[in-house]
Amino acid sequence: MPFNGPSVGGTGTPILMVGPRGVGKRTLAIAYAKASLCEAPVAGSACGKCTSCVDVAHNQSFMYVAPIDIAGANEQLITAIQKTMATGNSLAERVAMVLMNVDRLAPDLLDKLLKTVEEPGRDVALVMTATQLRDVRVAVRSRSRTIKLRRLSAEESALFVGARIGSSPPTAIDAVLATLDADARGLPHLLERACRKMLADGRKLGLGAAAPPMH
Ligand SMILES: [Zn+2]
Repeated sequence: MPFNGPSVGGTGTPILMVGPRGVGKRTLAIAYAKASLCEAPVAGSACGKCTSCVDVAHNQSFMYVAPIDIAGANEQLITAIQKTMATGNSLAERVAMVLMNVDRLAPDLLDKLLKTVEEPGRDVALVMTATQLRDVRVAVRSRSRTIKLRRLSAEESALFVGARIGSSPPTAIDAVLATLDADARGLPHLLERACRKMLADGRKLGLGAAAPPMH
């Protein structure tokens, strides 16, 4: 994936992740949020071993908030999110939060949220996702670090599938790709689904004993 890892410990400036549906914004946003809490990130990713990572993995973290879809959210939900940020701050030094579909939230409500994040003393790692950059106010974009995610190239898609289904012959990779429309082949979310299906079908047929465990 075209991902160089987050700038670690990077709270403050919100991250705005933009790209087509299925390109992996949510997955990457979660990775960013977790890495921002990790005590000893490895190559920009959460280590998975430190106290913070273990707490997150066991849903026992006061710092990590599971992704919230705020498309069309009303003021009530926004207020609740603000409260969550404040509560998190009183229990832990920092909070990491993923808000999805900010391009489909009323601009004044998004503004209100960002103001909360920017309040002095608030240590919130905010990662936002949007499908359409043009639907996000310039004022919001200028206060965020925008990361654009693109579809994978044909070569990258083949590498992605190869890594997922193990050391399979190229014909297996082609077979997975053939199950998807041309448009869908560059989208990791759909590639992942196609790989899982292929591995599950393989197991049914007694094949794929060497397939890697799927998470
Ligand atoms: Zn860690």
